[in-house]
Amino acid sequence: MKTFCGRANPTTGSMEWLEEGEDYDYHQEIARSRYADMLHDKDRNVKYYQGIRAAVSRVKERGEKAIVLDIGTGTGLLSMMAASAGADFCYAIEVFKPMANAAVKIVEKNGFSDKIKVINKHSTEVTVGPDGDMQCRANILVTELFDTELIGEGALPTYEHAHKYLVQEGCEAVPHRATVYVQLVESKRMWSWKKLFPVHVEAEDGEKILVPPSEMENCPGVPSVCDIQLNQMPSSDFTTLSDVMTMFSVDFSKPVQSAPTYYRVRLEPVKSGKAQIVLSWWDIDMDPSGMINCTMAPYWVKPTSALQWRDHWMQCVYFLPNEEPVLQGEKLYLTACRDEYSVWYNLQKAREGENKADEEELKADVRVESPVCRCRAHLLWNRPRIGELNDQKRTCQYIESLRKVLKIDSVCLCISDGSLLPVLAHYLGAKQVQYFPSRIDLYHPHELWQAFFKANHLEDKIKIIEARPELLKPSHLEDKKISVLVGEPFFTTSLLPWHNLYFWYARTAVSTHLASNVTVLPQSASLHMMIVEFQDLWRIRSPCGICEGFDVQTMDDMIKDSLNFRESKEAEPHPLWEYPCKSLSDPQEVLTFDFTKTVPQHCLSTEGSVKLLRKGRSHGAVLWMEYHLAADISVSTGLTKMSNEKGNCEWNPHCKQAVYFFSSVIESEILSDPTAVTYAINFDTKTGEIAMDFKL
Ligand code: SAH
Repeated sequence: MKTFCGRANPTTGSMEWLEEGEDYDYHQEIARSRYADMLHDKDRNVKYYQGIRAAVSRVKERGEKAIVLDIGTGTGLLSMMAASAGADFCYAIEVFKPMANAAVKIVEKNGFSDKIKVINKHSTEVTVGPDGDMQCRANILVTELFDTELIGEGALPTYEHAHKYLVQEGCEAVPHRATVYVQLVESKRMWSWKKLFPVHVEAEDGEKILVPPSEMENCPGVPSVCDIQLNQMPSSDFTTLSDVMTMFSVDFSKPVQSAPTYYRVRLEPVKSGKAQIVLSWWDIDMDPSGMINCTMAPYWVKPTSALQWRDHWMQCVYFLPNEEPVLQGEKLYLTACRDEYSVWYNLQKAREGENKADEEELKADVRVESPVCRCRAHLLWNRPRIGELNDQKRTCQYIESLRKVLKIDSVCLCISDGSLLPVLAHYLGAKQVQYFPSRIDLYHPHELWQAFFKANHLEDKIKIIEARPELLKPSHLEDKKISVLVGEPFFTTSLLPWHNLYFWYARTAVSTHLASNVTVLPQSASLHMMIVEFQDLWRIRSPCGICEGFDVQTMDDMIKDSLNFRESKEAEPHPLWEYPCKSLSDPQEVLTFDFTKTVPQHCLSTEGSVKLLRKGRSHGAVLWMEYHLAADISVSTGLTKMSNEKGNCEWNPHCKQAVYFFSSVIESEILSDPTAVTYAINFDTKTGEIAMDFKL
């Protein structure tokens, strides 16, 4: 089987697909997997164990043999729990080959080989019968197939199939039931991830307002789930308009239907406001009584002391198709529609004197298809990017910088993906504005831009160049030279902060078209680094050793091997506003990139050391880029506020920062002579990648 691994090339700004051979062993997937995070989730593990024990006892009390089916066994953990609880036999199904292999080893190491059979198949391929994978149907069904949206990893079709073919009628299920909860809220911050707000520009000839096209206003957006660490959203960033309501439940011990359907609740707002967002989370009852409950409820619903941090299950943010003004006490219906893998929401007003006809009408009103972006903006811009474009403070920094460099006769070229800079440049007086969106092929932004320009009467004012920077011809520029080259820079293929240095490569490619006195904005970028202690994020990459009494070190070793594979230990992107940390060192500028010059042939390297100023555990280094737009205007894609005495940090809420986890953690005390961490950082100009090494 051939496997293709996609990776953006920061020197070309485009995706490249590498074909991996037969022996490709999913190192990338394993190194970045969520297994460690799940194994560190004590609350989850303890409750699964309690639920499994209770289910095994119930079956035994009936005088039956306990035959367990564990779908998606991963490390084999839940099967080992079942075997320890006295199950007679467990069928542990795992589709992902490297994990199935690890499960075999772990089961053997823990002495359960005679009780647990690991089957490396998708559950829908499993056969039952004397010659089958399973001798007989199971009477206990154990699974952990849930994502933040509950059903996004295919739990429903898997259960549907299992009840039809793999388990007995009336089987016990752990978990027994899942319940999805919702709360209606108003939140400018979250709404700014879906809808583009008008942009205000103070121009020479008065205020200009850039408005999104009407297509975008009424677009339902994309169906992909928006999952976040809701516990990091301060209560000042949203207003709850309803109580927490139960939206729907699934009983896993009975046949499950995966076919698309909808659920509806009646609600009366507890407050008047603008209904924009549905916040949602779920809980699972491990047993029928509901005594063993594992919940994802956020801090304002559940006392903080009981919160278990986890990254594999978070909370969901759903965007209503349109903002709806609602009144306290008025009668509304909230509808959750779902297909096999995703959920979306609608809000409807109940009519006066609600009756049968009303019900019928509501039914007809349910949109069964999942939201599909029609305006294309939601395909071009993901949610954090829309949030970034809505950041008026950031926009002002660009406006102010552009104002400093633009002249009446400026010939301006903009290189960035889905950027509003060309429009700003035009409003601020640039005579000629050309624009290179680097992803012309994929999302047809041309049509989007046409709609955008039309909505703002900008047709013919801004020219979109449909060519790659290296193919730019004088004719594209009407034989003029570029006097101002601008970029945010932002490119949709960028994963790590420095991938936006593609701007530098593109700038190099268009060199011959630049006027001798060209202004490049930003003039330079710098890479910054800081050593941090994470409150929780460290768990996702930390070895587990023993989990609920079971030795899962084989899993730790496998992850370690994958991290070291092809020396691929790399930084990984994380939006740090969701993952609190404290700084243990001062932030340091480690590399600078001069956009007024072309990309050099040689590598850019630096070495040095950074002092640990605060007491704490050094989990890793955080790296981010800062762009220097003008003399005293810089934008940071990372740290936005200097840490206080305690080392608390504020991060740019629209960007992901790079996190490099150290292979071993050091504990530092504040000493008179603080401990230092030495680093070596190398920017390879040929590949556009940054390699780094830290010594503690
Ligand atoms: N049960 C483990 C791991 C849970 S992660 C634990 O609780 O720690 C879910 C696992 O299920 C993944 O390894 C995934 O590859 C596997 N999986 C998901 N759907 C599956 C299916 N239908 N058949 C077999 N394996 C599946």
